[in-house]
Amino acid sequence: MTFFNAIKSTTNQSLDILEGHRITVKREDLIHKVVSGNKFRKLRYNFEDYLLNDKVSVLTFGGAFSNHLAATAYAGKMCKIPTIGIVRGEEWENKVEGSRTLNFCRSQGMDLRFVSRAVYREKEKGSLIKELQSKMRNLAVLPEGGTNELAVKGCEEILTEADQQFDAICCCIGTGGTMAGLVNSTLNQQFVLGFNALNNPEVSKTIKAFTQKENWSVFSNYTFGGYAKVSEELIVFMNNFYQQYKIPLDPIYTGKMLFGIFDLIKSKQWSWGKNILVIHSGGLQGIEPMNLQLKKKRLPLLHYGE
Ligand SMILES: *Cc1c(COP(=O)(O)O)cnc(C)c1O
Repeated sequence: MTFFNAIKSTTNQSLDILEGHRITVKREDLIHKVVSGNKFRKLRYNFEDYLLNDKVSVLTFGGAFSNHLAATAYAGKMCKIPTIGIVRGEEWENKVEGSRTLNFCRSQGMDLRFVSRAVYREKEKGSLIKELQSKMRNLAVLPEGGTNELAVKGCEEILTEADQQFDAICCCIGTGGTMAGLVNSTLNQQFVLGFNALNNPEVSKTIKAFTQKENWSVFSNYTFGGYAKVSEELIVFMNNFYQQYKIPLDPIYTGKMLFGIFDLIKSKQWSWGKNILVIHSGGLQGIEPMNLQLKKKRLPLLHYGE
């Protein structure tokens, strides 16, 4: 029994009919207010495995705004397994206060280690892990973004039997683990559209590694220039979306996906059926840091509230 058992299926919220298309949002973001919904799904069976195998600590990786780092720190605290976070960018060492994410990780007891971008790039094959593993007995290493077989298994629990009525399922893509899990739990006649949040042409390979099914496709037209890049048009869309539906979107993943879905429908390029389920995977802790960036660039801010 772990705290993950408390995470059950989440609610579906209907939006208006958009040009004949019925859009429903699955509120995975409501699983936790800081930690992304899909990250809990991805961690569940990994942490259960650590507890079962007496792993003494868990090491993982991420940038200064990584939802995955925050989720791992929190899960570690809840499961009483110490966590180590390898953070990209040595410059963050002296300005943890400047990152809400890193602050949160530290407050959960995560041991943060800062490395240069060069060391970070080699993190999986470099000497960094070997050195730590030789020093620490039973150290588990979780890949960046948390995607592995057990993560995909957790994401297979996002869809329920009631969701078999939908023609299309939409999700965001970082590493592709969430999408693979969703695909595995669909019927063959359903179609899964994944919206890439970064320019990552290799992601289809990752998804193929975790699913045998072929009822899916990756869309990379709505990356807005790359990971965490935004435009004024996107911010305006997200603010309007909130005004209309009272659903906050995050600027890195779900905002871009919903922009893409609305754009495909409005430009009459949508051809995946009229009953659409959108997975809101969370990421809302990224709003505050994004507003700081937007302020610096003199762009409109994200306004959620009132
Ligand atoms: C991490 C994250 C994703 C991407 O999940 P992957 O399994 O890495 O593709 C999507 N949405 C949000 C909000 C996330 O934090």
